[in-house]
Amino acid sequence: MSQPLTQNKWRSFPKTHKWILLACLLGIATTATLAGFEKKQRALAHIAEHDALSGFLAASQHSNKEPLNTTGEPASPTATLDNVEPLEIPGPLSLEYTVSAGDSLSTIFQQFRISSDTLHAILEADEDLLALDSLKEGTKLALTLNNSSDFEQALASMEVFKNPSYSIIYHRVDDTHFSFEEKRAETFWQEHVYSGTIHGSFFKSAEKTGLNPKEIQSAIEILQDKINFSRQIKAGDRFEIVVLREVTETENTGNMRIEGVRVHTNGNVVGAFLHDDGQYYNKNGQSLTTRAFRRLPTHREYRVSSHFNPNRRHPITGRISPHNGTDFAAPIGTPVLATADGVVSRVRNHPYAGIYVEIEHAGGSFKTRYLHLSKAQVNRGQRVKSGQQIALSGNTGRSTGPHLHYEVHVNNRPVNALGNNVPLVTSIDKQAMPKFNSKVAALEHKMAQHADGS
Ligand SMILES: [Zn+2]
Repeated sequence: MSQPLTQNKWRSFPKTHKWILLACLLGIATTATLAGFEKKQRALAHIAEHDALSGFLAASQHSNKEPLNTTGEPASPTATLDNVEPLEIPGPLSLEYTVSAGDSLSTIFQQFRISSDTLHAILEADEDLLALDSLKEGTKLALTLNNSSDFEQALASMEVFKNPSYSIIYHRVDDTHFSFEEKRAETFWQEHVYSGTIHGSFFKSAEKTGLNPKEIQSAIEILQDKINFSRQIKAGDRFEIVVLREVTETENTGNMRIEGVRVHTNGNVVGAFLHDDGQYYNKNGQSLTTRAFRRLPTHREYRVSSHFNPNRRHPITGRISPHNGTDFAAPIGTPVLATADGVVSRVRNHPYAGIYVEIEHAGGSFKTRYLHLSKAQVNRGQRVKSGQQIALSGNTGRSTGPHLHYEVHVNNRPVNALGNNVPLVTSIDKQAMPKFNSKVAALEHKMAQHADGS
């Protein structure tokens, strides 16, 4: 009677029952072990995910491909990733992002955990466009992330919508390269005629007629060498402006150009009319800016080490990678000169373009850029004169040797600085005058009609 009940019962079980019971117990024990293993594996997967993300963030912040151990201690021996399935991103994933104030591509990529390697690859593709260097507030981005287990390769493409008619798509070519493709929608130019009388400032008076600030500023810049808008203009003076605004089927792109402007002041008419070379001339065909474009951005001529080439192929990807400028083999420290009067619109340091300066000329219809500088000597917003020293040449960014990369853009498109599109003349040549004269006559007719009607 001293023996425990269980022992008695065990003994009393038939032999077959004993075997069944043992098999059941073994089964339970196995299940319990497996459950524990699964739990452990889930935990490991979680660790792996966490490490991948923190490594990823670390990579984008420190340009370091090795995931950083945040504690600084050696990784736990149990945290081996060998038997853990790689993390899958469901995809392809499309994301939209609207640029807000203070954003740069770098901060945006950090938010999406896109690596600094990808950032550099895309900035490299943008070297001859420099479109990603001026992401305005409100610009929309469309990102496509690949179905990939490797976060660092996840960005497949990015489209940047610069305005309703123009976007750029950066496509991944391989692990370390992107190429770009520009998309331009069909647009139309709508003509608008404005006229008014000065009461107060020219700016305020022009605004009242329906012209926007960008258009008024552009008109002022076109005539700035001929009229002192702050002192010369007085109440009762009149003005007429013909402006073209670019529209798509549905929207205004924000691009515009002044076709002609006239100011009646002090018994004179001061007029400026756009010629098909992109420059403004008075009705006699003489340039309004006393200085035309300089041919070269330096005092003396340096050997051209690489020409403007819209069809250049990238040596590694084989894709079209235009060379939008002319490279001059100028030694480091060569004074760089503004090639026309203008306003400094950018002074930046780019990982590939290096230190660079951009200047807008003639109310924005022309732009020049000077890349790989050792030192910029002007600030954004500064007004510069043709021939004024703005920088020292250098070898910054990705550059195979000291040189000055010089670009000219006409109406937002790059042109050969040494070609025919750059206005180097101070008056329209004789053959082109009949065409110019008839354009001026048509514009003046519209101006006079509008002025009478208002
Ligand atoms: Zn170049």
